[in-house]
Amino acid sequence: MQNDPIDIRCPKCGHVAHFHEPFRFTCVIRYAEVPENAHLWGRVVVEELYPEHYHWHQPETPKPTFHQGKETGPGYRLNHRGMRECACCGTLEKATISWPEDAYWQWNIDGHQLVARNREHAEMILAYLRERKRVPNRKPALRNIPTVMLTKQFAPVVQDHVERALEQA
Ligand SMILES: [Zn+2]
Repeated sequence: MQNDPIDIRCPKCGHVAHFHEPFRFTCVIRYAEVPENAHLWGRVVVEELYPEHYHWHQPETPKPTFHQGKETGPGYRLNHRGMRECACCGTLEKATISWPEDAYWQWNIDGHQLVARNREHAEMILAYLRERKRVPNRKPALRNIPTVMLTKQFAPVVQDHVERALEQA
């Protein structure tokens, strides 16, 4: 399960801020090891990371279901309500975001959209763009790169954009 924070633009200072899910989700390995204050959602352990701001309300789905971005339906919606942390202006507060619209790492090049979850993901994408011989089967984290951006003509352009963004932030 993806528990790493995603990067958004800080509305106060414009720098990179982290968005934290208010809960940590992990799979049960042994029931004896479930933390005392945690909730159980099927076989998923749910821990409240900011209990002063967010309490867990079990979605009405028999088994754990997660949604990303604009997907709807019963279950838990990731990348939506959580905490925004900005080291630059010292903010840690409740925030509701739209993903991927609020992504800090996003590029629109010739009408094609590329989004990275966070700096690590952007660096992973950059490394992949730099590869001379890319394996055709992409890792899940790299599947959101529009295929057109991987062409011989286009890849160096995209690479340039990503490099510059990483250098400036
Ligand atoms: Zn800030």
